[in-house]
Amino acid sequence: MVLTKRSLFDSATAYAQGGIAAALGAGDSPALHRRDTLAAGAALCDAEAVEVLVKEGPARVRELQTAGADFDLEPGGDFKLGREAAHSRRRIVHAHGDQTGAEVARALIDRVSGSPRIDVLERTRVLDLIVTDNKCHGVRATVAGLATEIIADATVLATGGCGQVYKYTTNPQVATGDGYAIAHRAGVRLADMEFVQFHPTALETPENPLALISEAVRGEGAILRNDSGERFMVKKHRLAELAPRDVVAREIFRQRETGSRVWLDARKLGASFKKRFPGIFAVCRARGINPGKDLIPVIPAAHYMMGGIVTDLSGHSSLERLYACGEVSRTGVHGANRLASNSLLEGLVFAERVARDMITLPQLKGAPRKKSWEAPPLIDRGAAQVAADDVRSIMWEHAGISRTAKGLRECMSVLSAID
Ligand SMILES: Cc1cc2nc3c(=O)[nH]c(=O)nc-3n(C[C@H](O)[C@H](O)[C@H](O)COP(=O)(O)OP(=O)(O)OC[C@H]3O[C@@H](n4cnc5c(N)ncnc54)[C@H](O)[C@@H]3O)c2cc1C
Repeated sequence: MVLTKRSLFDSATAYAQGGIAAALGAGDSPALHRRDTLAAGAALCDAEAVEVLVKEGPARVRELQTAGADFDLEPGGDFKLGREAAHSRRRIVHAHGDQTGAEVARALIDRVSGSPRIDVLERTRVLDLIVTDNKCHGVRATVAGLATEIIADATVLATGGCGQVYKYTTNPQVATGDGYAIAHRAGVRLADMEFVQFHPTALETPENPLALISEAVRGEGAILRNDSGERFMVKKHRLAELAPRDVVAREIFRQRETGSRVWLDARKLGASFKKRFPGIFAVCRARGINPGKDLIPVIPAAHYMMGGIVTDLSGHSSLERLYACGEVSRTGVHGANRLASNSLLEGLVFAERVARDMITLPQLKGAPRKKSWEAPPLIDRGAAQVAADDVRSIMWEHAGISRTAKGLRECMSVLSAID
């Protein structure tokens, strides 16, 4: 049974643009992919988990293709591979140019909807785990507003990330970090929650979420300039605009602190921009920007949570019968900084491992009988919105790209005063 709080499509997965990293090209290998992943992770990746990711990744991508995902191909039928920051090879599998996540979500939803063995409950919000005898027996959720318990032999949290706790984010509105809170309340082990990835180039607008201008645009040659037209990244890193995300995001943040806005200059792509990045082109055009001719204003934004529910290589959490996978998990593959396009891959590789492990579990005895329970009353929408806005501002200010002990203490005291 799949539970999801809005529709199946409402997810960060459907937003992913750039693609899925996998060593599928000529001259590439899992060893090179591993080297790039470890380098980006700032020496804090778990080497064993990275090994699993890069070795099993290519097979999982091919499986997804067989399952119906319409990836972009070369005329001979090989994957058309893009290049992204901090990857030493072209290894990004993509679909319909920059619509990879939407295509992956579509293909998976088609398969799930067509399966008589999978029940889907949309508009179902999971609030807590049912824990008896130190085992997870399922979840408490509100289904169409009604409080209910769903008993299960095995439970997988795949609730995605928490970008929406920040004022500026590329994450969809469903990405409010519920899975971390649910796990934490049940005493499940979390780690690396300080490792938040800020994407360097969100389109600077007053919207929520902010539209993302994929790294792949820089991969194809776009450069960053400040108000004086200076290409400031050249002085900061040997890879310039293609340095790891944290380096580029911090430099843009610094430029903005000095009062300069930052611009992505993709003019040299000219008319080819529209063909290679049709989605981003449409997003820019809808806001009056022509990427082939105009500079694109960009701002860093909360994008991805490296930390999460600690899992082993089969997705087990510290609580028996509870698994985690995808962004909510902390498998150790990202270390302190995720390499671009490794997160869809992590979802594919570790979800398969979770599934393989789960089906070997014997039936759970002593499961509590299904019962109805009182869902906590919802705070009125207006008050909840004010609290959410306060959280997002304070998190951006003090727990964002640049942090100090004093700022973090202030952040904690403001957050604990919010009901
Ligand atoms: C704009 C953007 C572009 C990206 N581009 C790329 C890219 O090119 N390549 C790449 O590898 N990664 C990319 N990422 C990151 C990647 O998309 C995500 O890390 C990944 O899709 C997360 O998948 P997931 O299944 O863990 O979570 P999601 O896809 O977010 O799914 C989580 C689901 O859980 C549901 N949910 C949450 N809480 C509850 C609850 N309490 N009860 C019930 N349901 C709940 C949500 O509604 C959602 O449907 C991008 C992210 C963004 C935001």
